[in-house]
Amino acid sequence: METPPTFFYSPNAYALGIIAQEAITCQCCGKARAFRYTGNLYTAATVKQLCPWCIADGSAADKYGGSFVSDFEGLNPDPAAETGLAMSPASMEQVSSRTPGYASWQGDVWLGHCGEACIFLGYAGGAELATIWAEVEADAVASGWGKENIRDYMHKDGDMTGYLFRCQHCGQHRLHVDAN
Ligand SMILES: [Zn+2]
Ligand SMILES: [Zn+2]
Repeated sequence: METPPTFFYSPNAYALGIIAQEAITCQCCGKARAFRYTGNLYTAATVKQLCPWCIADGSAADKYGGSFVSDFEGLNPDPAAETGLAMSPASMEQVSSRTPGYASWQGDVWLGHCGEACIFLGYAGGAELATIWAEVEADAVASGWGKENIRDYMHKDGDMTGYLFRCQHCGQHRLHVDAN
């Protein structure tokens, strides 16, 4: 069996079930594959069965004119602000065109830090955040869901879910929160 591609911006895509081991015929390349992408490609086309190879080489995003994320944080930062969270176009392109999205309630939002897109680590609840709470507290407050709710009641498989990212440069953890 061919070894499937790995993703810099989503290193745990297989462990998280974003890419599942399942026999498919990929809609994009037409090949029989042993892995299927379970997430979304945001596009007007109907795309049901994609293999990870067509994500990694950009061919699926290109063929269907789609993106694997719905929003980037800080894509349009306030021009008056000196320190926006804008990400480099190259890092955004790699995330939107060549990185699998994640399972979300209201659409995938990708966070950035140090001027580039962050690495998506996985789903998180209050328990998973306990040891890094100081790093993500500001994001928890800014999320508007209430930091006590997040810390005490959020579960990684619950109706309110945390999405944990890490900066590829400084290692700072970042948190996006979304609910059903
Ligand atoms: Zn394919
Ligand atoms: Zn950073």
